[in-house]
Order: sequence, then C-alpha cells, then structure tokens
Amino acid sequence: MKYLGIEPKRLRVGVFDFTSCEGCELQFANKEETLLDFLGAIDIVNFREISSDQGKDYDIAFVEGSITRSDEFARIIEIRRQAKILVALGSCACFGGVNALKNAYNLTDANREVYGTAPRETLPTRAIKEVVPVDMEIPGCPVNKDEVERIVQHLIWSIPFNFPEHPVCLECKQRFTTCVFEKGQLCLGPITRGGCTAPCPAGGTGCWGCRGEAAEPNFKEFSKIAHERGFSDLEISERMAFFGGFEGEK
Ligand code: SF4
Ligand code: SF4
Ligand code: SF4
Repeated sequence: MKYLGIEPKRLRVGVFDFTSCEGCELQFANKEETLLDFLGAIDIVNFREISSDQGKDYDIAFVEGSITRSDEFARIIEIRRQAKILVALGSCACFGGVNALKNAYNLTDANREVYGTAPRETLPTRAIKEVVPVDMEIPGCPVNKDEVERIVQHLIWSIPFNFPEHPVCLECKQRFTTCVFEKGQLCLGPITRGGCTAPCPAGGTGCWGCRGEAAEPNFKEFSKIAHERGFSDLEISERMAFFGGFEGEK
C-alpha cells in the first residue's frame, strides 16, 4: 500500500480479548470489500481468532473486553508493557459495557442465582483504563469497522484521530429516518456520540447509547423531552446504564 508514492511502515498489531462476546474483534475480520486492503496495511502478530501466532513484538494492542477475573490483571499489565499504543476496543473495554450491569448487584447472590452450587470467580467489572493506562478508546457495541479502518490509517501515518462530537441524531436525520420518539419509543440519540451512522433508529429501535456520551450533551433538555413523551426517570436511567457510557450521569 502506498500513499503519495511512499510505502508506510506496516504496523505490527496484536488483538486481545478479555471478558467479552468477541464481537468487536470479529470486526477485524469483517467487511470483505476492504478486508484485503485492511490486512495488507497491518501485520497481525497475535490474534487468537484468526491465527495461531502468538508474537509479542506488537506496536499496537487492540484490547477487547473488560476485566472481571483475577487472572486477567497480570495479562493486561503484560500487554500494556509490550505495546507502544494500547487501544480499548468496544464498549466493554471503554466503559465496562454490558458486563458492568452486574456491578449493580450483590455478586455472591448473583453467582448463586446463575451457577447454583458451582460458583465461578466474578469480580466487579472494570474498564481497561481502570487497570492500565489506555492511549485511545474506540466505543461501540460492536465497534464500527469503517471507523476502525480510518483509525488504523491515522495510526499508520501518526495523524491524530478526532472522534465525532455530534450526537447520533445528526446522522439519523442525514439518513431520513423517522424519529422513533414518534413511534412511542425511547431513544438516547440526542445525548450519544455519533459515528455509528445511526443503525438502530434506522432499524426501528431507539439508541441505547453504546458509543457513550456526545460532546456537551444537554441532559436537562433530553430528560424534559423524554418526560413529555411519557418516559420515567427509571426508564431513562436504566437505558443510560446499559452500556456504562454515561458514568456519573443520571
Ligand atoms: S462491546 Fe459489545 S460486541 Fe464488543 S465485546 Fe463487548 S458485548 Fe461484544
Ligand atoms: S430516532 Fe433517536 S437518533 Fe433519531 S432523531 Fe429521533 S431521537 Fe434522534
Ligand atoms: S444508534 Fe446508539 S445503540 Fe445503535 S449503534 Fe449507534 S450509538 Fe450504538
């Protein structure tokens, strides 16, 4: 791959998963129309889902999932030590994601409820940045492959990447989707960071905030509108807690 006649250095990449569904890392192997170019721009040295190689000489570590077991601490610390750049990949890694829902419960009781007489170790969920320093966070459940491709290009050329600051509503209107509030549904689009192209409202369901908080979200106005449409504080706060991307709000 050349740009302006220059052959850039291929980044050596490791992709790692912690407590997660593996949906974000799967995006690396997704999107067949650009997959060959994407894989041609990087050199994957460690990625359990697609290769048996377990190289440790990676420049960039993409880390999916959150930390919920004691054995995960030493592993993420070692990955941090090896990587020049550590990127949290997806909402689980960035904010705890759906894994963090369990933090609202007594874990001993929850363990007994789920596993009965064969309990598993389960610690309160931590986002990656709560355990080791993180250089960049790519939110989403799962991450958007177009955005991952653009970010990798920026990393190759050492150009800072600016995430969208606008809310999901802007992209929703750009694709002429009928607002789901008009259909009696709750939607976090007005306060959630865009960049996903608003697929959930386009598919007929409200945004659940998987990309976290937009820049300067107007929570007061959003609550007012949601209340006017008949949604309670509990419904709003439960929706906002779902991916953990509105920490400290509501
Ligand atoms: S952010 Fe969503 S898709 Fe990605 S690992 Fe977590 S649950 Fe899976
Ligand atoms: S459906 Fe959601 S994202 Fe789309 S315009 Fe309405 S509130 Fe905004
Ligand atoms: S619309 Fe909301 S929940 Fe759906 S992908 Fe975008 S940010 Fe995530």
